[in-house]
Amino acid sequence: MLRSAFTLCLLATLAGCSTSPLGRQQLKLMPDAEVQQMGLQSFNQMKKDTPISNDKKQNTYVSCVAQKVVAEIPSQYGKQAWEIVVFKSDDANAFALPGGKIGVYTGLLKVAKNQDQLAAVIGHEVGHVLAGHSNERLSTQYVTQAGLSIASAAAGTNQNSQQMLQLLGVGAQYGVILPFSRTQESEADLIGLDLMASAGFNPEQSISLWQNMSKEGGATPPELLSTHPAPAHRIDNLRARLGVATPLYQQARAQGKQPNCKI
Ligand SMILES: [Zn+2]
Repeated sequence: MLRSAFTLCLLATLAGCSTSPLGRQQLKLMPDAEVQQMGLQSFNQMKKDTPISNDKKQNTYVSCVAQKVVAEIPSQYGKQAWEIVVFKSDDANAFALPGGKIGVYTGLLKVAKNQDQLAAVIGHEVGHVLAGHSNERLSTQYVTQAGLSIASAAAGTNQNSQQMLQLLGVGAQYGVILPFSRTQESEADLIGLDLMASAGFNPEQSISLWQNMSKEGGATPPELLSTHPAPAHRIDNLRARLGVATPLYQQARAQGKQPNCKI
């Protein structure tokens, strides 16, 4: 997978090749503005299709956690306001979209049992956005499904942009909420862990969260479990990253970042 991304990158001289926050080589063909636009469209659609929770306590709690996590996004990603919506659904799920949107399902609040566990999920979702995973996936989809050579895609002729638009149209409704790859999932886990720890949330709670998630098993929510790495593997990865995240956490606490979000 890595090697093919590398080869594609070599070919795509005019197209976007970049490096993920954890140093992995990525293929990103889509202009960021376009991916953000898709994120906004998808989010608006979600808001039309899924009931929104008006429960004040739930909203205050989720916003309290989410705003603290997004406040830790490194400045290189640019500052933007994040919209946070709590959706009424029994799924233990959440998502974040390019363009600064976060959705949390009420069902998640039963599985993420405290503010630190909720921060772990939100950090994970924001990690997908920071690493440009939607762009990467759309680009891969474009290259494989549209059957175009990268070289001609990069040339950006009218005909090709037409095809790209069609491809976007196909997934316009939920195009940016399709499952991520396992590599992307692991990457989002680690980026999320650093974010939550920097906000003063206890990174060890991310492990308890995934233990809770794997007990939920039966429900198998789409974003959080379906394509995710096996829980044991994911927990090993997170544990290994605690060496980085724990000092971030201790530093944040020492700076007075001691979140107290309650439901
Ligand atoms: Zn994910």
